[in-house]
Amino acid sequence: MSSSLWQNASPCPENCGAQRGAHNEPWTLAHSLSDLAGASQAYLRALPSILDSILEGDELVQALLELTAVLEHMHDHFEDPIFLRAMFDPLRDEWAARERSRK
Ligand SMILES: [Zn+2]
Repeated sequence: MSSSLWQNASPCPENCGAQRGAHNEPWTLAHSLSDLAGASQAYLRALPSILDSILEGDELVQALLELTAVLEHMHDHFEDPIFLRAMFDPLRDEWAARERSRK
């Protein structure tokens, strides 16, 4: 990746995630955006076999579990960077309000 965001992030060592309490937002955001790209490709690869009913029974369940793991990975990267987390805050409030109205 050649973006200025990634260049800002590059001084962070490989094991940056292990540094507790030392959040590096440029590195975290660049890492999340990069991983989201890879996860998106995995999602797109898995989707046709599920939507086109190619799989059944245990194979379908396994494919859904694998797709869920990809979505969990993506969700983690929506939550890690402060920037993305803040962008989704209004959605969280909306979802919570919707959930309260169902009860
Ligand atoms: Zn990741």
